[in-house]
Amino acid sequence: HFGFEDGISEAEKTERVAGVFHSVAESYDRMNDLMSFGVHRLWKDHFVSSLNPGSSSSIPPKPQHILDIAGGTGDIAFRMLHNAHTIHRNTSVHVTISDINPSMLAVGKQRSLSLPPSQQSALSFLPADATALPASILPNSIDLYTVAFGIRNFANIPLALREAYRVLKPGGVFACLEFSKVENPVLDAVYKRWSFSGIPLIGQLVAGDRDSYQYLVESIERFPSQGEFRDMIVDAGFVVGGDGYENLTGGVAAIHKGMKP
Ligand code: SAM
Repeated sequence: HFGFEDGISEAEKTERVAGVFHSVAESYDRMNDLMSFGVHRLWKDHFVSSLNPGSSSSIPPKPQHILDIAGGTGDIAFRMLHNAHTIHRNTSVHVTISDINPSMLAVGKQRSLSLPPSQQSALSFLPADATALPASILPNSIDLYTVAFGIRNFANIPLALREAYRVLKPGGVFACLEFSKVENPVLDAVYKRWSFSGIPLIGQLVAGDRDSYQYLVESIERFPSQGEFRDMIVDAGFVVGGDGYENLTGGVAAIHKGMKP
C-alpha cells in the first residue's frame, strides 16, 4: 500500500488527497483518456444525458441550480451546460463547480474560457470541502448535486452524503458517477491487471508521477460495492428507485442516484 491504509486521520487523508490532485492537475485530462482508452468520455456523456439538465417543459423554464462537487477540471459541468443551453436552449440552468483543490479548479477555469460567453456566465467556481459545505450554499437550495469520480477520495463519505442531503431541495437529486466493482470474473481479471500495473506505469511515463496514480488505483479497490454504496445513500435519507444504481462497462463504473423526499 501507498500509505492510505486505514488508521490515518481524516485530516491526514484529506491532506494526502490534496497532494495527489495538486500533482496530477496539469496532466489530469490527458491521463484520463490514456487510462480509460477514452471511455470516461462516454460514461460522462451518458451520466449527463441520463440527468438531462435543462429539460424543463414549463415556460419560462424554472431556474435550475446544479452543484458539481469535486468538479475538478470541469468535464461534468461543461457537459451540463451544453445539454441545457445548447440542446434544450434553456439558459436558466446555472452550474457551480466546486472542488477542494485550487489547482484542479484553476485548470477548470482556464478550460472554461473557450465556452460560449452565455455558458461562461452561467458557471461559478467554489473551493470547498464536500464534507463541510460552506454557508454560501444554503440548505434546501440545490436542484441537482453531481459528483463524478470524486466521492471515493472523500475522507468521510457518509458525512458528504449528509451534506448533499442538507443542501438539496426536497425533490432534488443526488447523482454519482464512480468506479465500481466489475461483476464478470474474466473481465475483472483483465481490468485488475490493467489497473494495478498499466495505470501506475503510464502515470510514471506520461505524468512522471507513479505514486499518485498508484493511489488512484488503490482508492478504486477500497471503494464499496454497488449495493453497499446504495445502502449508504439510503442511510443518508435518500429514496432510490429499483436497484439504485446502473452499471457501466460491466461495473468498471456505476451511476447511483437518489432523491431527497
Ligand atoms: N469530476 C471531475 C471529473 O470527473 O473529471 C474530477 C474528478 S477527480 C478524479 C477527483 C476530484 O475530487 C479532484 O479534483 C479532487 O481535488 C476532488 N476532491 C477530493 N477530495 C475532495 C473533498 N473532500 N471535497 C471536494 N473535492 C474533493
